[in-house]
Amino acid sequence: MKVTVLGASGSWPDRGTALSGYLVEHDGYSMWVDCGSGTMANLQKYISIAEVDAMLITHEHADHCVDVYPLFYARYYNRQGEDHMPLYIPKGLDTRMMNLLSEESVEGFHIGFDVHEIVGGEAFESGPFHVTANAMEHLGLPALGYRIATDGVALAYTGDTGPSPNVADLARDADILLAEATYQDADTLTPFHLSARQAAEAATEAGVGELVLTHLIPSRDPAISLDEAQQAFAGPVAAAVEGLVLSLGGESAASGDGAPRSA
Ligand SMILES: [Zn+2]
Repeated sequence: MKVTVLGASGSWPDRGTALSGYLVEHDGYSMWVDCGSGTMANLQKYISIAEVDAMLITHEHADHCVDVYPLFYARYYNRQGEDHMPLYIPKGLDTRMMNLLSEESVEGFHIGFDVHEIVGGEAFESGPFHVTANAMEHLGLPALGYRIATDGVALAYTGDTGPSPNVADLARDADILLAEATYQDADTLTPFHLSARQAAEAATEAGVGELVLTHLIPSRDPAISLDEAQQAFAGPVAAAVEGLVLSLGGESAASGDGAPRSA
């Protein structure tokens, strides 16, 4: 399994960067996971719009889902890709997403995409991937973390969440935990986002092979987040940046555009 970071800025973009989004590939199948602003532009550095086979969205916040609209325009109105692309979203999000579309487009959207509304605890197959959704703790929203497994390897991605036993459950023995790490120790912590240290504590509890921090608030020094995470997790820790590639099932390890990384 190969995971490419399309965007990793938390909540708003840093200069020239995209928000949350990841391209997960295996065996010629391409799944786009979260599509914050800017990620569709970055996706096309790796695959064409038509080559997206399925999409997963963690929750309704704009920084995780707004590029679904330009994807719809390109695929449905401009015929870049087949109709009925599977789109997995938390229950209730379909209605909310339609609020930004005209009535005519709502119809087209449901031809362009086969929308599957998912609840925590549900599991499904998408191409070669076995996907399990867990409910996360995020402002009372239907917010999901996804565990994506194939060929004996597993990636766990939290989306947005505060501290919750479900984070470690989602990530139990996973090869990589891709965890939101919005805050640092010096920040005022909230119950709906994690700090790097809290993400690391969940990684330790889950026994994951490697921790990758993402969704850091712009302007924060990733070196501080990495340091705080390393104090609570003994395995390798990296910070996600655009272009970072994670390989699961090979030699492993992150590679790519010079992401901060520690052993
Ligand atoms: Zn959020």
